[in-house]
Amino acid sequence: MKVTIFGTGYVGLVTGACLAEMGNHVVCVDVDQAKVDGLRNGVIPIFEPGLEPIVRRNYASGQLDFTTDPAPAIAHGELIFIAVGTPPDEDGSADMKYVLSVARTIGEHLDRYAVVVNKSTVPVGTADRVRKAIDDVLGERGAAVDFDVVSNPEFLKEGDAVEDCLRPDRIVVGSSSERAVARLRKLYAPFNRNHDRMVVMDERSAELTKYAANAMLATKISFMNEIANIAERVGADVELVRQGIGADPRIGYHFIYPGAGYGGSCFPKDVQALERIARGHGYDARLLGMVEAVNAQQKTRLFAQIQKHFDGDVAGKTVALWGLAFKPNTDDMREAPSRRLMEALWEAGAKVRAYDPEARAETTRIYGERDDLVLCDNAYDTLQGADVLALVTEWKAFRSPDFARIEAVLKNPAIFDGRNLYDPRVVEDAGIAYYGIGRGRSL
Ligand code: NAD
Repeated sequence: MKVTIFGTGYVGLVTGACLAEMGNHVVCVDVDQAKVDGLRNGVIPIFEPGLEPIVRRNYASGQLDFTTDPAPAIAHGELIFIAVGTPPDEDGSADMKYVLSVARTIGEHLDRYAVVVNKSTVPVGTADRVRKAIDDVLGERGAAVDFDVVSNPEFLKEGDAVEDCLRPDRIVVGSSSERAVARLRKLYAPFNRNHDRMVVMDERSAELTKYAANAMLATKISFMNEIANIAERVGADVELVRQGIGADPRIGYHFIYPGAGYGGSCFPKDVQALERIARGHGYDARLLGMVEAVNAQQKTRLFAQIQKHFDGDVAGKTVALWGLAFKPNTDDMREAPSRRLMEALWEAGAKVRAYDPEARAETTRIYGERDDLVLCDNAYDTLQGADVLALVTEWKAFRSPDFARIEAVLKNPAIFDGRNLYDPRVVEDAGIAYYGIGRGRSL
């Protein structure tokens, strides 16, 4: 099928590449000229496992193209996807300016029936707003063109985005138009061969499904962090509690890891946006507010532990930091717990020597060159001249380190394990003080 995608970020680029891989002809449009030029030269702007070969192969074969020019792109697509950002605006609501700007652009160029598919995470009622925005511009043009607007929220996870896109758990399609649903069934048929993964519903339910999914996942994390904070005070180990509750199939083992707080481009902004949506409809979603509050506090935990370890004075200390990205297998630093920790350390007069397998360039882009930050080439380099080690992102490369080497190099051997990656006994047997999250130690 002929597909057009507005936005070549995590969602748009991965979706475009995977749809091209399935034999569709895909044109990706972005306003960022440098990004489009790079993609046309095989430069992938994000780190996402498996993405680069798919993009290069399909660009070379002509199944996938990139442009900044919306007119031919809109003329091309029988399906026109909107996959642009919806960042939080000042009050935490989703900022709709990019989505509505694409809608107006579609209105300016549309000249035959097409299905406009919204993949961005958007407030309930956005399908109606997009429809109206397109209609208004068509009206200004005096053009009578039929079109449908469908909500098709995206559930891919950064770090597994290609895999999630090629093998989705479910494909949520919100539409009351049979014609539009039939078009999407055709597009997604290759993804439904094993069993039908399409869940068809109305637009508003589809829009809310996306927020509900992210809010549920964020709630699980904050819940476990709450239990971790209790465990710490009562002398219990949250890792044992986690396994004890996970054995109940109604709870399950997935996504109940305590840690240094959730980050990324989605959970923080989507929980906030859902709370604002509820408030806008006269409902005070108290649970969501607490999910955010617990997470904000959790992001300060590592710093609090480090500060306590040094009797409240970290000035002049150097902290080795493993992991900068908000989670493994990505270079995304948006809302990353590492940022809260580094900024708090700098504020208190400490220095940081950090290593991340992928997020080095992104860290430099955000913080530039500074005296109190050294970005190292590998994990062990960070230890040179460092007092203690903090683990913030659970990359596989950090799972089984040489503790004897860490003990030998650190000036004040202590590990602050923000992901409970290590066995406290093994660390302590190596002569290193261990601080985890919720592992029976006082604050
Ligand atoms: P992103 O910031 O990585 O990319 C957005 C892209 O849109 C940028 O390249 C930007 O230049 C481009 N853009 C902005 N205005 C444009 C316009 N008028 N025309 C063409 N391109 C334009 O964003 P993302 O992470 O891919 O997220 C996109 C949407 O998908 C958001 O609503 C997000 O909440 C949602 N989402 C993201 C993820 C994720 O893991 N990142 C997962 C599911 C859903």
